[in-house]
Amino acid sequence: MPACPEVGAGFDAAAFTERIKQCGAGHLVFSVRCDQGMAYYDTKTGIRHPSLPYDLFGRLAEACKQEGIALTAYFNGGISSAEGLQHRDWTTLNFDGREYREPRFTPYVRTMCYNSPYREHLISMIKEVAQNYPVSGFFIDCLSPYPCICPLCVKMMKEQGIDWTDKEEVVTFSGASALRLSNDIAEALMSINPGYLLYFSGVGYEEQAAISSYYECVSLPNSTGYDFLPVMSHYIRTLGKEPVVNMTGRFYDWGDFGGLRPEAAIKYDLLYGLANGMRPSVGGHFHPRGDLNNAVFDRIEKIYKELQTTEPWFEDAKNITEIGIVYPKSLENLSNDRQLKSAVRMLSELKQQFDVVTTFSDWSKYKVLVIPDDVTFDAEVTRRVKEHLAAGKAVISSGSSGL
Ligand SMILES: [Zn+2]
Repeated sequence: MPACPEVGAGFDAAAFTERIKQCGAGHLVFSVRCDQGMAYYDTKTGIRHPSLPYDLFGRLAEACKQEGIALTAYFNGGISSAEGLQHRDWTTLNFDGREYREPRFTPYVRTMCYNSPYREHLISMIKEVAQNYPVSGFFIDCLSPYPCICPLCVKMMKEQGIDWTDKEEVVTFSGASALRLSNDIAEALMSINPGYLLYFSGVGYEEQAAISSYYECVSLPNSTGYDFLPVMSHYIRTLGKEPVVNMTGRFYDWGDFGGLRPEAAIKYDLLYGLANGMRPSVGGHFHPRGDLNNAVFDRIEKIYKELQTTEPWFEDAKNITEIGIVYPKSLENLSNDRQLKSAVRMLSELKQQFDVVTTFSDWSKYKVLVIPDDVTFDAEVTRRVKEHLAAGKAVISSGSSGL
């Protein structure tokens, strides 16, 4: 793949951080190693971008320190084209024997095997950044359960009695491998600085509860739909971790290079999050040359300035809820469950204060439990609902729920 030319040639770290400060943002997440597997810092372990002649991340870290902006280092944990090309045995092997994933001809062609030597490589790069730069935290992205039947994974699955010919079992195994890698990353980082901000995207919120220090919800309505954020905001806040960051985008999609959403659209997402206990964040792409895109900054600054006028209403505010929508099903479907989305929309239109709850959190504070349409009761849900009824409180159960 030909390298993008002039990477970082127009990057002015001081001007960039000054604009961020003008927007009123106090926290920046910036790519230190991207989806292409290229590093933007002085690395002895990884592959520095061939068109980048200097330590871009180092300059940025220094400028952020001077401006008092917390800087989180972004690593793509699951996708890495350049490293996958150099180490073909580090990539996932699909059921049909190919290493490319669908759609094949995108920048995201290679996914990495969490059980290959890639895991040690990634951990050592993360430690390298932690030891050499004044960062506040790490955002590890795309730790999704990409199925892999490479010899290493098959050997481990056989040892654990997992059927490696069963696609569902392989995906579950991959999810467990991603969590195991996340645990090892967290352990390595906590020994360096226990105060790091840590989040592992792609790993379930409840699965990473013991190792992450905050949660992110990435929501671009053009791809997730406008019912996604309402469901997720009412759910994530029940898990007891703060802050919950609500990341929308300045564009319509992550592959939308150059797009800029209207002011009202971005503002709507951020205000919705603020009203539901989330902190605002706007995702963007940098021009590879590092040029400042003033049109984007002008828009974000205008929106952030307006949000700041509402601070007295959201700073230290708590969402007081009386209703719990019960969702004990697979969390993978949480954002796509039609019955759940419908219940969330109905209670929102009725202007009720509610949460979406799994069995991860306590239900005792709710006066009403809403159990939408097709919830099958297991022993734990049965016990909780009986306890709720015994306390003289109400249940609204629709469809076949509980039958
Ligand atoms: Zn593998």
